[in-house]
Amino acid sequence: MAGTSTVIAFENASIFDGISANLKRGFTVLVQDGFITEVIATGSAVVSSAQRIDCGGRTLMPGLIDAHWHSMLAPVTIPDLMTADEGYLTLLAADEARRTLLRGFTSVRDMGGASFSLKKAIDTGISSGPRIWPSGAVISQTGGHGDFRLPYELPERPGNWSRTEAIGAGVVADGADAVLKRAREQLALGASQIKLAAGGGIVSHYDPIDTSQYTERELHAAVEAADNWGTYVAVHAYLPRSIQTALRAGVRSIEHGHLMDEATAEMIAERGAWLSTQPFIDEGTGAFPEGSPNRLKEQQVEHGTDFIYGLARKFKLKTAWGTDILFNPPATVRQGHMLASMKRWYEPAEILTMATRNNAELLALSGSHSPYPGKLGVIEKGALADILVVDGNPLVDIDLVADPENRFHLIMKNGVIHKNILDAGAR
Ligand SMILES: [Zn+2]
Repeated sequence: MAGTSTVIAFENASIFDGISANLKRGFTVLVQDGFITEVIATGSAVVSSAQRIDCGGRTLMPGLIDAHWHSMLAPVTIPDLMTADEGYLTLLAADEARRTLLRGFTSVRDMGGASFSLKKAIDTGISSGPRIWPSGAVISQTGGHGDFRLPYELPERPGNWSRTEAIGAGVVADGADAVLKRAREQLALGASQIKLAAGGGIVSHYDPIDTSQYTERELHAAVEAADNWGTYVAVHAYLPRSIQTALRAGVRSIEHGHLMDEATAEMIAERGAWLSTQPFIDEGTGAFPEGSPNRLKEQQVEHGTDFIYGLARKFKLKTAWGTDILFNPPATVRQGHMLASMKRWYEPAEILTMATRNNAELLALSGSHSPYPGKLGVIEKGALADILVVDGNPLVDIDLVADPENRFHLIMKNGVIHKNILDAGAR
């Protein structure tokens, strides 16, 4: 759903454009048909038919992007995932998508889960939510991070399609041929990139965190499928061995990486791959009880967070920001808080750039089959009109992104206004 052909003029705005570390004050941004058509000094002539919106000097910035989000799995508990009717799970996801957009996230890179129908409903205006770059089911080896089959579903029997495969959350494939086929299936369904599990994970039950998953040959099969389709493969991986194997196989984006070392960071830099990582910090809001096997794995990963941001800086890695909130409905409200928490390692301008222009650059790796052609993450002529008007200066007070309800006064996606309290007497 694109915005109307009526020109919308955001007047008297201070602009964070996703590029400069300073605000540009006193500008008017014109939007028409879903695009930013002009950025001009306030006071310049604007067509009389334009709908004028006075920003009152507030900050106008690009919509936020979460590079590692799970539209279908974040708002769902594991018991619901395993037992609830699929229709119910989809309704939960649709409600969460609406709230995601109202937190100022106009785009998400979905790193696992069957988000295709939700995406379609949003794109056609049936539901409200962010733009979604879907990966589809996480492709995993037997016993890997995307293998959510229950013990009674193993070993596989002919015609044995597990619950989590049926709902498209994860799919198991062993051997290069099987991986190739599974990757092609997800591309056929509309995946904009392929996601594989290349190492142990927190929420899965069979795999210790330090396991390497998939051989280079298997990973390369997925890379070939994606490459033929004009897109790329991202892998879930925490440790040096799994990351290095993935890089050798041609993987372009490493998801997480919290337990890697200097040599591995150097290899990521050399290959020009992306580190798509997340500020995992223990704030007592995890999905797993203290002492449980999953919680112990989570703690291992949390110990690496400081180190990995140090490596990202040292080796000037292309770094994407994401949250990876998973199976944890009460935590989704913390999406903006997790962005603000990046201030432990970065300046506000760096944080905002990461969540706008840099993440948009990663989204663009999907190439000519990106579901939303056009420029994102910047405020400039010709860019897609995903715009926030925020109360205050986020380059000074980054914490305001953690309070979207009160501080995000206007939210526009694709030229359509989804929230506007500018005239509601708010500060
Ligand atoms: Zn994830």
